[in-house]
Amino acid sequence: MYRKYSSGIIEVVTGPMFSGKTEELIKRITVLSYSEIPTLIVKPVIDNRFSHNEIFSRNGRSIKCYSVDTVDDIKELFRQQNYKALVIDEAQFFDESLIDFVEELAVKGIRVIACGLDQDFRRKPFKIIANLMAIADQVTKLKAVCLSCKNAASCSFRTSLSQETIEIGDTNKYEARCRLCHQNGLNHQKNKKIS
Ligand SMILES: [Zn+2]
Repeated sequence: MYRKYSSGIIEVVTGPMFSGKTEELIKRITVLSYSEIPTLIVKPVIDNRFSHNEIFSRNGRSIKCYSVDTVDDIKELFRQQNYKALVIDEAQFFDESLIDFVEELAVKGIRVIACGLDQDFRRKPFKIIANLMAIADQVTKLKAVCLSCKNAASCSFRTSLSQETIEIGDTNKYEARCRLCHQNGLNHQKNKKIS
């Protein structure tokens, strides 16, 4: 137990929208960079809320990254240099082939940090993040502040009435809510639709 960890580990940073996941991720990337560990940083093309080739936190910090379409794109990029770490932002948007790839890298001694939403706006788990959390060595689950009651929030509530599972948006379409206020919000929307 007190022996040194092997260098290959899988870490997941998760939580609802507005919980500071990207800020947390940028902190880790900064440590990797101080340690001079060559790191590949990717995010899916689908997430273009702020900029295509940068990861942005709400505190205004940003870090350059690659925008990729698929897990195969990540594999291709990873092969191009002698990377020792892989950082994936918005990992919930990738398909489940990411699981095997991440596992393969960790066995080879690569450090993997995946960041993403654990639940969609209905509070259904994103399978890919659930699976990554299961195989991870370390999970950090962050909380936001519920916009309704100001308690800790672990859910993302969609204020627009769209039912698409994936709908990119920010404070215009989502707010952080605790479980109870999330449920109350859903009931309220249902009643609104019936009337
Ligand atoms: Zn609340």
